[in-house]
Amino acid sequence: MQRTNPTAVKEVEAPCAGIRRLVLPLPYEVQTLNVYLLEGEGGSTVVDTGVGGPFGRATWGSVFEHLAPASISALVGTHYHPDHIGAAGWLAAKLDVPFLCSQVCWLVTKLLLSQDQSDQEEQLRFFRRLGTSSEDAEVMLAPANGYKLVVDPPPPAFFRLRDGAEVRLGGRTWRVCCCEGHASELVTLYSEELGVLLCSDQVLPEISPNVSVWSTSPEDDPLGAYLASLARLRELPDETLCLPAHGEPFRGLRRRVDELVEHHRLRLQRIVEALEERRTVAALVDPVFTPGLGTFERMFAQGELQAHLALLLGRGEIEREEDERGTWWYARKR
Ligand SMILES: [Zn+2]
Repeated sequence: MQRTNPTAVKEVEAPCAGIRRLVLPLPYEVQTLNVYLLEGEGGSTVVDTGVGGPFGRATWGSVFEHLAPASISALVGTHYHPDHIGAAGWLAAKLDVPFLCSQVCWLVTKLLLSQDQSDQEEQLRFFRRLGTSSEDAEVMLAPANGYKLVVDPPPPAFFRLRDGAEVRLGGRTWRVCCCEGHASELVTLYSEELGVLLCSDQVLPEISPNVSVWSTSPEDDPLGAYLASLARLRELPDETLCLPAHGEPFRGLRRRVDELVEHHRLRLQRIVEALEERRTVAALVDPVFTPGLGTFERMFAQGELQAHLALLLGRGEIEREEDERGTWWYARKR
């Protein structure tokens, strides 16, 4: 699944005056990351960094063929996922530039780097809750050092991007909107002057961003939070140019938000129908998703299902019972 050789970094057509777009390779299947450079008199602000570790060093070697290191004046990390924050600590130190991110982003990066055995035990308990078979759970269990392999320690200090605040980057004013659901306090940046939204992974043009419950917070309702954040973004002008972290820039923010909301509405409906029969999360994967998923795909499907179930539980549409093994059983409320 993992690729080890970074392919060349590409610079593609600038999405608008004052913003450049680099496409960085990622050590995962097919995916690439868009890095945006907000250019101004004081230098360029780099939004997102790609993964860290040896892959990140090699990738940035290639980035510096497009961009003089001395022209970079600041780094932004939109959220704590490895493809966004991985190289930030190393780069900020190398370039001696400030690093901007949300408080949750900085704290969670540090916490994920310190995961140990006890986190794995909690993951196993979570899989039991979801009704995962023990053979599957063994394969799904994340290695304790997985995050560390692709994320360098974050910069020791950061400039906090607060929800609602305005910040000057690349000589322009950007309004911070911290979104929830895909990652907590995921930073999106809106420039009224340019009519541009840097939407990171919150709104993607072709895929529905992953919204999952994780073992660290099993009772969370990330889907409710995700939909509430989408509703906030939907209030921006429809002609806004959206610059996502993956895929092509696009216009038509409201249409795309409506499509994402509809996708989740249909999935919720399908889950409620499948819960005519009492089921565990693991037993919902086949009726709700395309059958025949591999073990890792099923793991992500379970996390997404639990996110939808938490929303339905909160709405009172379904009920949950826990058996003596600690497994959760869901059924439609009659
Ligand atoms: Zn992400």
